[in-house]
Amino acid sequence: MAQTCIMPHITHLKDDYFLSLKKEPKLRLINISKRYIVGEEKDNCRGFYAVQDFSLDIYDGEFICLVGPSGCGKSTIINLIAGFEKPDEGKIFCDNKEIKSSGPDRCVIFQENGLLPWLNLEQNIEFGLKILGLTKSKRNDISKKYLKMVHLLKFAKSYPFQLSGGMKQRVSIARALAVDPVMLLMDEPFSSLDPRTRDLLHLQLQQIWLETRKTVLFVSHSVEEALRLSDRIVIMGSQPGRIRRIVDVNLPHPRDFFHPGIAKLRAEILEELEDELNKLAKREGDDDWNIKEGSLRRRSDGSLAVSVGSGG
Ligand code: ADP
Repeated sequence: MAQTCIMPHITHLKDDYFLSLKKEPKLRLINISKRYIVGEEKDNCRGFYAVQDFSLDIYDGEFICLVGPSGCGKSTIINLIAGFEKPDEGKIFCDNKEIKSSGPDRCVIFQENGLLPWLNLEQNIEFGLKILGLTKSKRNDISKKYLKMVHLLKFAKSYPFQLSGGMKQRVSIARALAVDPVMLLMDEPFSSLDPRTRDLLHLQLQQIWLETRKTVLFVSHSVEEALRLSDRIVIMGSQPGRIRRIVDVNLPHPRDFFHPGIAKLRAEILEELEDELNKLAKREGDDDWNIKEGSLRRRSDGSLAVSVGSGG
């Protein structure tokens, strides 16, 4: 599998962080395949692989992004790790234990925040802690700690309907961190937010990650988002969903979004995804729609831009 490695100046990261990367994987996916059946009648149905032969090791404290075209199996991978679905082939291990069902060690943050509307922020965060059997005072200490971390302590008594979309996602992050999971699974958590709010949350998520060093698997369809956040980017291909390539992003955190290394990697990743875009066009458009010839142009920095049009 090809790996890209650029800009090795990561001076502020401690040596023990790199040592930890050499240890046992926190999460291990071994030859995972997931098939879905399409069609209702038993004799008439067709099976297809949403994900096939997917193997990946994720180490303690890593921030990994899955990117790829719509339908390449990114959410399927999250659902399998979360234990919401079972693989048809292969095994998944978290901390050396095989994943058989969902559990508080793997918290998922979705695009929709999933906060309980009848509870205030403090109560939303304490809800999971109550199920885990923590005392009132311990619950209160933890909810304060994480509301402070996401800069929402003064809104502790507010209700979700009183918050903006970005604030709600910050509460979701606080709520997930409060139960101290082994890893955070984030499935396009910022995709419904406006670009300015997303910028702010990218910065804040990096700060939180540097502070907590949680292992994160983040799904995104945005190459820019992946480059802002992750240590490694897993580029997926579709039909069947699989790993095309893994790219190392050796740039310091918190990341300078205008770093020239980001533009270079962005161009490389978009190039890698070019034929996936054409596959998508064939699947979701008329036969004469050819993205490569008609609507991809190269910018002066070498990156690819997609224009909306008929192509050809
Ligand atoms: P992504 O997150 O990359 O957009 P998904 O993991 O959601 O992709 O889906 C991968 C493929 O599996 C898609 O073709 C999707 O339609 C299909 N799929 C996902 N879940 C199911 C399901 N429960 N039943 C049938 N097909 C599914």
